This record gives sequence, structure tokens and C-alpha cells, in this order.
Amino acid sequence: MSDPAALFHAQRALAPARRSGFGRAERLAALEALRRMVLDNRPAIVAALEADFGKHPVETLLSEILPVLQEIAHARRHLRRWMRPRRVWPGLTGLGASARIVPQPKGVALIIAPWNYPVTLALGPVVSALAAGCSVILKPSEMVPQTSALLASLIGQCFPPDLVAVVEGGPDVATALLALPFDHIFFTGSPEVGRIVMAAAARNLTSVTLELGGKSPVIVGGDADLAQAARWIAWGRFFNGGQTCVAPDHVFVEAGVAARFSAMIKDETARMWAEPGNLARVVNARHGARLRGLIGDAAAAGAAVSGGQSAGDTALAPTFLEGTTEGMEVSRQEIFGPVLPLIPFSDLDQVLARIGAGPKPLALYVFGGRALADRVVGQTASGSVGVNLTLLTFSHPNLPFGGIGNSGLGAAHGYEGFRAFSHERPVLTNRFLPMAMLFPPYTMGVRRLTDLLLRLVR
Ligand code: NAD
Repeated sequence: MSDPAALFHAQRALAPARRSGFGRAERLAALEALRRMVLDNRPAIVAALEADFGKHPVETLLSEILPVLQEIAHARRHLRRWMRPRRVWPGLTGLGASARIVPQPKGVALIIAPWNYPVTLALGPVVSALAAGCSVILKPSEMVPQTSALLASLIGQCFPPDLVAVVEGGPDVATALLALPFDHIFFTGSPEVGRIVMAAAARNLTSVTLELGGKSPVIVGGDADLAQAARWIAWGRFFNGGQTCVAPDHVFVEAGVAARFSAMIKDETARMWAEPGNLARVVNARHGARLRGLIGDAAAAGAAVSGGQSAGDTALAPTFLEGTTEGMEVSRQEIFGPVLPLIPFSDLDQVLARIGAGPKPLALYVFGGRALADRVVGQTASGSVGVNLTLLTFSHPNLPFGGIGNSGLGAAHGYEGFRAFSHERPVLTNRFLPMAMLFPPYTMGVRRLTDLLLRLVR
């Protein structure tokens, strides 16, 4: 059965029974099945990603397999606590009633995944959905056909389609799925498609989690440990071929240390990424042409380019741009490839104003001492902040992950992921509520009691 509507209705038919019948034991069993599936198929996953965009096996193990296993382990460890109804203080007007919050599965979830971390960003939300007791239809990205086919085959062997099913295809298939009245949509991808997803969800008043992208800036202060900054930025920018939603997109570096930093990050980049096969390919020829266009446009407008040799449509070496200006295309669109502008600054306020004037980024990184970090955290908005590191805000099990505004809506991972797929349902039970004393007719006694109540809550 791969007809999206038939799959949806099969899952929907079971949703009421799952509310009570898909308890902790069943959810743990589903998570164990997913864990075994990932563990037993590591070589096939590594091979699919190598075929799709030349991702190095170490990068696949670190960023596709480890995060999913970590998400499963965390959910299994905490599921009992997450599922437990929480009693809350009833407050003055609720005295005499017991108040509880009971998490319930939302029902049937749609997960639409991007291509750039095609296993992590597909299976990570599946872990949260299963932990919350939802069934799932997963649509991987058509841009990584080997990984998409592998996910469809593995999930098909591991789960009944009325619990977890994969529907493969591109925008047309996603559009058909989005027309169905899902109980939650979890979308990871670009802000442009995020708008389309949210508009489609609005037609069915379906809740959404949107994990989007954008330009994540880095600020390197004059007091930063430059060697540390160069190492972390060279890693974070070029990991996965620069195709990471939270990758450093451009670096503002304090003018006094800019020349030294430029030399250091180029050395560090050569050391890390020169060996053939370490750097993943650009995903396809269209993106290769887009990136060469950004470099060419910047060069034509006067920017200095270092690196950037390309061998074929999709092999692009790490590239640094110096002397870019705000009007250039590279300063406007998310770069999403192995290209890094270095931008010297002498006035931090101007940098903060420039960041504040643009769409709110998914991540923001700052390298330097406590005072600089506090100032940047206090005066900017972004999905997350990394201080003296890059990328790792994505993978901390106890930190919510998500964007704000243009970079996303809602949060993923761990308990926040569980909450995304749960309805936190208030249950208020009358024991000896005195509220009945305020029911009509509105006698003088009722008026006096109302006045007393108002005085007490003032
Ligand atoms: P994309 O938005 O092009 O595609 C994402 C998914 O949406 C794919 O499954 C695709 O088939 C589907 N899609 C494409 N067009 C559609 C349409 N018109 N209607 C419905 N669905 C459609 O994104 P991408 O190129 O796969 O990924 C790159 C983007 O994703 C970048 O902006 C990146 O920053 C962002 N991203 C964000 C996160 C995050 O966690 N916040 C993670 C990875 C990537």
C-alpha cells in the first residue's frame, strides 16, 4: 500500500485505539525495533550516503547514526517520566479541584525530511513521534534517491504500514500528503517551502513544527582564542560539504585580528579537508552552479576569492571570500555549501544591528570572552547560540532545537520532540469546588463573595 490517502486512512482508523492501546511497553518496543534497524544496517546507510553525495563514512556515523541512537536512548530512558500525568497547583479559583496535565498522542503525524542529513532528520522526528504514541507517514527527500529508497525498504521491513510508513517522491507527492488532515506536520527544510507547508496545514488547522534554515552568523572577538575559533569554524562550515542548516554562514571578525584569523582558518581548513574524500560533494549540479554563481558574482563585484577549485559539477573545494558587501547575492541567500565570507569589523554595534535587521537566524556563534558572549546573547535573537563552538547546539539531548521566525517554529529533540507530537491535555476534576456559591441568582451574598475574591487575587 503506497497510496498516501489509503495509508493515511489506515493509520487514522487505528488512532482512537492507539490512544489507550499504544502504551509505554508498545512504544519502547517500537523504539527498540528502530534502534535495531539503524544498528544492523550501518553499512547500507553509509553506502547510500556515499552514493548520494560522497559523504565520508565517519561523518555518516557521527551525524546520521549517532544522533538517532542518542535520541532513541534518551527517549527510552525518560519515557516513563514524559508520559506521566503531571499534577499542578490549582490556584485560588481552582481550590477544591484536582488539576492534571495528561499527555496524549496527537494521532497521525506527517514528517517531511530534507536531503542534507537525510537519516537523522527523517528518523529523529520518527523517534519523537513514536515516543509520543503517534503513527507516522515519512516523506524523505527525492534529492537523495539511494537513502530515500533505503529508508523505505528498511521501514517497510521493520514496521507495519499502519504504524510507520514511508512515501517516496518530490514536491508533487508532498503536496498530495499535505492535503490530508494530519494531526501534526513536522517539516524540515527551507523557509520557502516552510511557508507552503504552513499554508497547507492552515487549511486543515493542523499543528506544525517547522525546522527551517537561513544565514547563521559567527562573531569572532578580538579576545577570542583564534586557534580554537579557526578549528571549530573550519570544521562547522565544511562538515557535510557545508550543507548543514546550522553551519556558520559568514564570519564577522574583529579588524585587529582579521588578517591573523584569515591565515589561521585557511591553514586549518587545508589541514582538515585537503585529503580526497573527506569533503562531501555538493548535492547536485544545480546547487553546484548556484554556488559557483555566488562566488563569480562576488568576485566580479570586487571580493577576493581563495580556494574554490572545482572538479566537475559537484566537487567544489573550500572557498573563502574577503571583501564581500551587503548588496552581493552571497550576503543575501543561505550559502549552504563550502563557501565562507570573512568580514572584518571595528564596531560591534554595527554587526549586531546588521544581524538584527535580517531574518532571525537558526544559529549564532560567538568566539571570545564572557563579556562579549553576554553582550551578543543579550542583544540578538536566534534559534540557538553556540559560544566557542559550532554545530553542537543541534545534538545536545537536553536542549530544545529549533528556530525562531524565518528559521522555524516549535522545537525538536528529547522532551521537546515528545511534546511536539503530544497534546498536553488538561483534566480538571471537581472535588469540593466552592464555585457553586457564585452561581445565580446574584444575591447580595454572591456580590460580597465576588468582591472578596477580587480583593484576594489583586
Ligand atoms: P527543501 O525545502 O527544498 O525540501 C525539504 C522537503 O520539502 C523535501 O522532502 C522536498 O521534497 C519537500 N518539498 C520541496 N518542495 C515542496 C513543495 N513545493 N511543497 C511541499 N514539499 C516540498 O529543503 P532541502 O533543500 O531539502 O534542505 C535545505 C534547507 O533545509 C536549508 O534551508 C536548510 O537550512 C534547511 N534545513 C533545516 C534544518 C533544521 O533542522 N532547522 C535541518 C536541515 C536543513
